[in-house]
Amino acid sequence: MPTREISNRKSGPKQFIYTFSGGRAEGDASMKNLLGGKGANLAEMANIGLPVPPGFTLSTEVCTWYYEHGQTYPDGLFEEEIPRALATIEEALGRKFGDPGNPLLISVRSGARASMPGMMDTILNLGLNEQTVAGLARKSGNPRFAWDCYRRFVQMYGDVVLGLKPADKKQKDPFEEILEARKHALGIKVDTEFSTEDLQEIVGHYKAAILDKTGRSFPDDPHEQLRGAIGAVFESWNNERAIIYRRLNHIPGYWGTACNVQAMVFGNMGEDCGTGVAFTRDAATGKNIFYGEFLMNAQGEDVVAGTRTPLDISQLKEENPEIYRQLDDIRATLEKHYRDMMDIEFTIENNILFMLQCRVGKRTGPAALKIAVDMFKEGLIDEKEAILRIEPEQLNQLLRPVFDVREKQAAVQSGRLLATGLNAGPGAATGKICFNATDAAERNRRGEPVILVRIETSPEDIKGMAVSEGILTERGGMTSHAALVARQMGKVCVVGCGALSIDYQNAEMRIDGSDVVLHEGDDLSLDGTTGEVIAGSLPTRNSEIIEVLVDGTRKPEDAPSWEVYNQLMLWADRYRRLQIRANADQPDQAAVALTFGAEGIGLCRTEHMFFGGERIQAMREMILADDLEERNTAISKLLPYQREDFYGLFKTMGSHPVTIRLLDPPLHEFLPHSDEEIMRLAIGMGKPYEHVKERIAALHEFNPMLGLRGCRLGILHPEITIMQVQAIMEAACQLRQEGLEVVPEIMVPLVSTLKELEITAEIIHKTARSVIAEQWIGVKYLVGTMIEVPRAAITSAEIATAADFFSYGTNDLTQMTLGMSRDDSGQFLPTYQQHDIFPRNPFESIDIDGVGRLITLSASEGRSVKPDLKLGICGEHGGDPASVEFCHKTGLNYVSCSPYRVPVARLAAARAALLG
Ligand code: PEP
Ligand code: MG
Repeated sequence: MPTREISNRKSGPKQFIYTFSGGRAEGDASMKNLLGGKGANLAEMANIGLPVPPGFTLSTEVCTWYYEHGQTYPDGLFEEEIPRALATIEEALGRKFGDPGNPLLISVRSGARASMPGMMDTILNLGLNEQTVAGLARKSGNPRFAWDCYRRFVQMYGDVVLGLKPADKKQKDPFEEILEARKHALGIKVDTEFSTEDLQEIVGHYKAAILDKTGRSFPDDPHEQLRGAIGAVFESWNNERAIIYRRLNHIPGYWGTACNVQAMVFGNMGEDCGTGVAFTRDAATGKNIFYGEFLMNAQGEDVVAGTRTPLDISQLKEENPEIYRQLDDIRATLEKHYRDMMDIEFTIENNILFMLQCRVGKRTGPAALKIAVDMFKEGLIDEKEAILRIEPEQLNQLLRPVFDVREKQAAVQSGRLLATGLNAGPGAATGKICFNATDAAERNRRGEPVILVRIETSPEDIKGMAVSEGILTERGGMTSHAALVARQMGKVCVVGCGALSIDYQNAEMRIDGSDVVLHEGDDLSLDGTTGEVIAGSLPTRNSEIIEVLVDGTRKPEDAPSWEVYNQLMLWADRYRRLQIRANADQPDQAAVALTFGAEGIGLCRTEHMFFGGERIQAMREMILADDLEERNTAISKLLPYQREDFYGLFKTMGSHPVTIRLLDPPLHEFLPHSDEEIMRLAIGMGKPYEHVKERIAALHEFNPMLGLRGCRLGILHPEITIMQVQAIMEAACQLRQEGLEVVPEIMVPLVSTLKELEITAEIIHKTARSVIAEQWIGVKYLVGTMIEVPRAAITSAEIATAADFFSYGTNDLTQMTLGMSRDDSGQFLPTYQQHDIFPRNPFESIDIDGVGRLITLSASEGRSVKPDLKLGICGEHGGDPASVEFCHKTGLNYVSCSPYRVPVARLAAARAALLG
């Protein structure tokens, strides 16, 4: 029966509740925004005839209403709509909510648009009280089961809805204390040893604790219970861990969560019952195998909570071949229907299989690539969809280091292999042991790499997981909280390592069967690909892709991940419109950039060329020269170095464009600071120490970022610009003679007015023309400017008259637009992000509303006078996928990023083009 629209509410008629039941649902998978991921997929599964227990979803609009109207609900929701929707469940099952004769029990679960595993609240077995528990006992013929459900329900409700769960993990949960005390008194170890009478007694203690702590009795009325549970689910949208998770995953707070109310099915009613979770393919490697875990006689949360280590799904085939066959059929149906790898939850109740959830499965980067390419080959998706299936950042996991095989072998042979757990998140990690999230965050703040070691993780640990290199747990399976969250974060992770005995109190861990004891701060290494836990630190080695591409130490045919990587990159290049360049200053960096697919150099920071060997001496002589003659002598020493540098860079890049930026930073950056170094320099220059010291002091600036740098240097000291341009042009002429045509792009930094550019451009043209005349060789060159000062962005129409190209220097542009130092903002930006002042660090991802608007204005002003004006970006943002998308939309010609980000930028550019 479809739910009627609720009338008489302030924002006009709307449907707030959507039912699903046996082969028919009011919603479907496309309605995630309204029904949340869980609700939309439950509806979809019901629609395609899968066995889903009946239920209904309160839409995310109820949640947003709740918050917008002072934590209240739309009129009639509890009085009319929920009873009506409950009736559809009662009708489908022939049970009644609150009926002691044949009680209907329900679960109440959160479910946002994007999955937020374990972050929000769930209440199971709702609808039980002293009367219905007796009814359930009679109906199931299993009083112990009924009281076990009641015990779990009172505990869960007490913790979640009545707020008895302590916020601080160091304090004990009162229900756990009661449970432990009973176990101790009875001399038993596990819950399953409690008798019915024990459970009845425990429920009595629980209720007394609730009365004691809240001053109110535990609610017996199922409708009151339901109202409380729905409120708790909506409240949990704004609990601290959900807020942190949203921030880490860029999920906006205004989305709200849906709330799913569904008939309970029981996996803990006996030995013909069970529950499990599975992936339709291997979420770690992407292999096309059914991959999952189950526990017989258990309730859903037991599997994900990681408190009992579950069995491999292949064992279900032996234990219950018929259920396995049904599940395997559902696996095929779901993959065909969703055309993706799915993550499912199921329950077996008295030998009947029920599907409780399905969603697109989280996967590692390597798995994402393999699944996308395999599904293309299987004809399930086309290449455009394959590209859209992969988040650009996931590519990073294929480029991540692994342990050096020999070093690891040596460590293992020397007895450093401590234990082996489950390989939940691939890659190699080395760091200092921390046993809790706070210590992990503290060590990370000090710049130390961290391995977070926990008995099991819970959502409270995510702060610590986010800052760790790797995560290790004693308990839990491949779908435990630790495994899921680590994979999503792209962290190295080993779980279920049963040989560990972790002692939080003493901040140490022992290894069973050995006398090894490791303490907080000790070095530990994790191989997330094999599950090995190794004492001490271990050097890491490049990944397969890096070995093929950069090191040349592995043949493509010996690198399984190469094929999928290469295929994906070929597809990406087919669809992207943006060109991808790299920021590189040395020929070896340029060579790496080329292997990653860079199509040019977007920024060569020439100041980086002056630090090596004798160059720095000549540079210092130039800066400290007392007159023009001295300066020219020093400059003539620098010229051959620069010519050699540019020759090497142009030659490596062949016919690809290379943008060389004239000297940019404040001169004092090149000068020595210690007395000893100053003395050495003075001796080298044949000048008195005091004199050199005074000259250095005279160059001191209070705000060097806004001082004598960029084009200002060349305007004060044109001889620097002349030398650099001469070196660029002579290198280009030499290569031209050797048969290689290069077109240098000479870039002027930190321009804010047209006049600055005109003066500098004149020096460039004069010098270039004189080199060309002297060498008798025609070499083309371009003169352009960085746009990194807001004034230059605003006056781009004028500046474009003197420029062949613009390159947006978004590091400085962000600094100057926001008035925030790029070097010092680490002090306050994390707090700014917490307050959502900037959802992302604006130095990492373009502040689209501010800096972005300046770029958009500049691009259109520039092109209004020069339609062919070439536009690029060379700030750090060039490797950030969201910024790449912005550059695509703004019509830039290229993005330039660090060489190792080039594959990410290629994929991001293709996705931007496909998403239109
Ligand atoms: C920039 O400001 O964005 C830029 C690329 O220049 P630099 O980082 O060298 O100041
Ligand atoms: Mg800059």
